[in-house]
Amino acid sequence: MGKPEDPELAKGWLAHRAEQERRYRAEHPERHLEAHRRYRERHPDADRIYRETHEEEIREYGRRYFVDNKARALENQRRYRAANRDKVRAAKRKYRAEHPEKTAEESRRYYDPAKARRWRAKNPEKAADIIHRRRVRLIGGDARRVTPKDIASILRNYRNRCGYCGTPLSPVRREWHLDHAIPLKRGGRHAIGNLVPACKSCNHQKSTRLPIEWRRVLLRRSSAAA
Ligand SMILES: [Zn+2]
Repeated sequence: MGKPEDPELAKGWLAHRAEQERRYRAEHPERHLEAHRRYRERHPDADRIYRETHEEEIREYGRRYFVDNKARALENQRRYRAANRDKVRAAKRKYRAEHPEKTAEESRRYYDPAKARRWRAKNPEKAADIIHRRRVRLIGGDARRVTPKDIASILRNYRNRCGYCGTPLSPVRREWHLDHAIPLKRGGRHAIGNLVPACKSCNHQKSTRLPIEWRRVLLRRSSAAA
């Protein structure tokens, strides 16, 4: 039976046909898939043509899917990122290198001073390290990331003592410094190998001396004390 002439009847007929088709697909999924496959075989470019002619709809569909399935989409994204950490990191680095202006604009837009303050308060060593690396790079020096774990291992190597005078260091991180043995201003690197735990007094007195110059000061000091 064909489509009726009367518009009201035609509407009912179309709805009925759509319902029949839906039921058919649900009852015979394999037949439906097979028909689909055959159609694609006959029209090998159909998918590509559809993609090219419906770009906006496809994007809108993706957007709507993301909104409707936000929790699931975020979970998928999280799982993918966890499984491909290095790949994601490399892709981000590549993107930032290729789009410096966009990157700067995005970080301006998403920068939240209150959030940044909270992060710095929670991660003082990481925050100090970031500032350090930025400063070193500004003067053209070499900067490596120094993590809290690295700092703990430096401290262990010096048995929790000042690397210059041997005074035991307070467990309170603010009470001592990480000194750059070769000062940054004199071409030293910001990296584990150039860091020495130092009491406030040594760090202050050593200032921008090279290790050999500083050793002379220490020798003079110990012979004066003897
Ligand atoms: Zn000291």
